[in-house]
Amino acid sequence: MAGTYTLTIIKPDAFAAGKAGKIIAHLEQQGFRVRAARVMHLSQDQAGEFYAVHRERPFYGSLVKFMTSGPCMPMVLEKDNAVAALRTAIGATDPAQADAGTVRKLYAESKERNAIHASDSDENAEREARFFFAESDVIAAR
Ligand code: GDP
Repeated sequence: MAGTYTLTIIKPDAFAAGKAGKIIAHLEQQGFRVRAARVMHLSQDQAGEFYAVHRERPFYGSLVKFMTSGPCMPMVLEKDNAVAALRTAIGATDPAQADAGTVRKLYAESKERNAIHASDSDENAEREARFFFAESDVIAAR
């Protein structure tokens, strides 16, 4: 999967606000294709494990609480150079710092409630896709 796939999550703030359709349309217009998708409400354990890399950070507890506050929408997206392309498309972590036209500039509320997650490497894209999806849930391209 490396290279052409990445993992995104429409986070609980954006999903609850009814922004999922707009965000998916925005990404599709930029050439991303949805290869797997689900709506789920993360448990404490799932959110804690997904963000385990941030366990020592001061915002970890708040981040886990936010990510378990309501349903979210994990998706596998396909595009050439998908990881880098999606990081560019979502913009900086803090929407105040995000470039115009990015998902976070358009739809995020704050640095924490920032609408969308995107994997930061091919290795993490693989790990994160496996976290949410079975191989058989991912629609093979072409
Ligand atoms: P990302 O790769 O841009 O999503 O950013 P990080 O991997 O650094 O952080 C993961 C998530 O933690 C972010 O998307 C935010 O939801 C949240 N986060 C990051 N930095 C902060 C912060 O300084 N304060 C708070 N409250 N949340 C943060």
